[in-house]
Amino acid sequence: THFGFRDVPEMDKERMVGQVFSNVASKYDVMNDAMSAGVHRLWKDTFIRRLAPPPGTKLLDVAGGTGDIALRFLNYCDQVHRDHTAQVHLVDINPDMVEVGRQRFKNTAFDLRSQVSLEVGNAENLANIPSESMDAYTIAFGIRNCTHVDRVVQEAYRVLKPGGRFMCLEFSHVDNPLISQFYDLYSFQVIPALGQLIAADRDSYQYLVESIRKFPTQDQFAQIIRNSGFYTVGQGYENLTFGVAAIHSGYKL
Ligand code: SAM
Repeated sequence: THFGFRDVPEMDKERMVGQVFSNVASKYDVMNDAMSAGVHRLWKDTFIRRLAPPPGTKLLDVAGGTGDIALRFLNYCDQVHRDHTAQVHLVDINPDMVEVGRQRFKNTAFDLRSQVSLEVGNAENLANIPSESMDAYTIAFGIRNCTHVDRVVQEAYRVLKPGGRFMCLEFSHVDNPLISQFYDLYSFQVIPALGQLIAADRDSYQYLVESIRKFPTQDQFAQIIRNSGFYTVGQGYENLTFGVAAIHSGYKL
């Protein structure tokens, strides 16, 4: 991880992101808890509750990493509907992250395990996923890392069945000036320091903070989603924790 993250040419972004997540794969879950004081768990729980998958849902979880969303989805189906016919296919560009996910699913109950499949692949080109084959598409804390956000959303549109739902959970932009000051201090001082302390990797977490700032605002991203053909309800998003994160959603009609 001894290269600079500033002013990286676009074509190198994919390789760099790969490097970031290989560096952090084994520490990834610990770091999430440390950086967000566990709040990412609540955001992810809310995300799945908003998705509210009915029995038998076929979900594609893109940039699924170590399986937080996939696992919550299956637990929701199990606990709310006693449904073991739901399926989730996890795609992530980084083999190390997918491997951590695979190991994690090995340790879950058999019926959950049999409902999951995992694949190394790119959100911008889901070559192995047939068009109109999925009921729902989720991407959590992943789209920000992709080079072409619009291509990711267009691929989501392609693979969803008519009536299918696109849902994205991502860091976003704080809407409150007072909170915003604390948030800036936290992101630019505390997070890189935690990265150094826990993962011995300040650069990767510096990158993370910068990538959050560069990502489109809630309204801009909602417009990208509509431009790809999705129908959005209301403004198309819901802020979590003053906009530190946001859930965007759209329907393929
Ligand atoms: N969704 C998981 C979660 O919420 O815990 C993982 C989120 S993690 C912050 C971001 C993930 O995006 C990493 O596992 C990374 O490998 C993956 N990723 C980055 N660029 C990608 C791309 N172009 N296609 C697929 N996955 C990608």
